[in-house]
Amino acid sequence: MLADPAPAPKSPRRIAVVGGGLAGLVAADRLLAAGHSVVVFEKYPEAGGLVGTFSVGGEAIERFYHHLFTSDVDYVSLAEDLGLGGEIEWLPSKMGFYSGGRLYPFGTPASLLGFSPLGVKGRLELVLSTLRLRHMSDWRALEGETAIGWLKKNGYGRVLDVVWGPLLTQKYGRRAEEVGLVWLWGKIALRSRSRDKTGLGERLGYMRGSFGRVVEALLSRIASRGGELRPARPVKLASRSDGRWLVEFRGGSETFDLVLSTVAIPELLRLVPDLPAEARAAWSGISYTHALCPVLVVDRPLTRFYWTNVGDVTMPFGGFIEHTNYIPSSRYGGNHVIYLSDYVLPDDPKWTMPDRDLWEIYLPAATRLAPELERARILERHLFRAEYAQPIVGTHYSRVLPPVRTGVPGLYSAAMAQVYPEDRGQNYAVKIAREAAAALLSDLP
Ligand SMILES: Cc1cc2nc3c(=O)[nH]c(=O)nc-3n(C[C@H](O)[C@H](O)[C@H](O)COP(=O)(O)OP(=O)(O)OC[C@H]3O[C@@H](n4cnc5c(N)ncnc54)[C@H](O)[C@@H]3O)c2cc1C
Repeated sequence: MLADPAPAPKSPRRIAVVGGGLAGLVAADRLLAAGHSVVVFEKYPEAGGLVGTFSVGGEAIERFYHHLFTSDVDYVSLAEDLGLGGEIEWLPSKMGFYSGGRLYPFGTPASLLGFSPLGVKGRLELVLSTLRLRHMSDWRALEGETAIGWLKKNGYGRVLDVVWGPLLTQKYGRRAEEVGLVWLWGKIALRSRSRDKTGLGERLGYMRGSFGRVVEALLSRIASRGGELRPARPVKLASRSDGRWLVEFRGGSETFDLVLSTVAIPELLRLVPDLPAEARAAWSGISYTHALCPVLVVDRPLTRFYWTNVGDVTMPFGGFIEHTNYIPSSRYGGNHVIYLSDYVLPDDPKWTMPDRDLWEIYLPAATRLAPELERARILERHLFRAEYAQPIVGTHYSRVLPPVRTGVPGLYSAAMAQVYPEDRGQNYAVKIAREAAAALLSDLP
């Protein structure tokens, strides 16, 4: 669907967008709509980045589990703008929690009563800490504390030991202690806004036919507006001379008036040697975890839950996500799809382990959590990997948060690590990309 064309600018610019993930495509679409000429450089053969898809039973599905919260208004507005608003389904979802070798229902008032690992004191702590964080409106006041520090300081030790400690360790490994309280606040505030009014669980949003449809719709609108996608063209260097940008990429180089980057901040620091020393010093502390995402396609359901948090640090993954307990298996030819979520620090040996060795670690643990896996037939298995999958956001992050205007004339950035105080997500990729494109356009004479 084409939005009304904007009047052509007096002097259209040639703009390079680095990265063909959601943020890059949204930014490119905006810049093209304003009448500029845009080339999107993407490292891999396909656009979409973290919302890339593959196929199960003839139906597209994300390589990494994805859903929306009801607070994801920027994403919904993008889908509407592309004529796909009516394709988002808001479906109930059930959460589980794996602790002490057992699987419990989790996330509703009724399930809390049966969640014995917390004991009475821990249950009270969970309720009190959640209510306190939910009612804190000024995240700036929380910036000086770590999540773990705050839980300890306020006497929420049981909930730290059973719930948040294991979950933080699963996601951030030895760096769990550094994670800022704002991260925990964001999780609780966002999730509570997605709660079903009945108190029976959450409603989460899914795009019928996968979130890849939004990527496809953006790609076709970019093409119809004269934009160009260059797949399999990783950018190697972007340097400025005489007011223009020379972008060097695999197979060639070209000049542009402006550059909008959507790659991870460590990658941006590598690509642009001319970043001011002050910015370089501040941003070089920004780091990420990588993601390993094993996917099993099996012939039967394995648990009752969509999303199971794994509160057990001896398990090799932090989430067991049974997609087909949320989206019907009939859409995938009757197959059942389970994602395991394993975030690893870049120096974790698992990151470079061959798939075969990783499956030897994952499968016995998945069977421990879901014994039905022993009887199930594994029809397919896939192991997807993503670099720079989750920024690690510590205390006082706003002091190092890179702005969309990088400080180098003509260079803009809309990266996942610029999403704050919320945690990364498709919604915020749309939002930050729109902000960066708007800043670029408003800086033009
Ligand atoms: C495991 C996992 C689960 C998630 N679950 C959800 C969820 O449930 N809901 C939700 O909303 N969000 C979820 N997300 C987050 C969501 O996918 C991201 O926030 C969003 O897709 C980020 O888009 P992006 O364009 O900013 O980044 P990316 O998708 O990372 O795009 C960056 C692009 O830049 C390219 N690139 C990198 N270097 C170069 C280079 N040198 N030259 C050219 N191109 C380059 C990359 O290949 C990539 O395509 C999840 C993410 C992960 C990893």
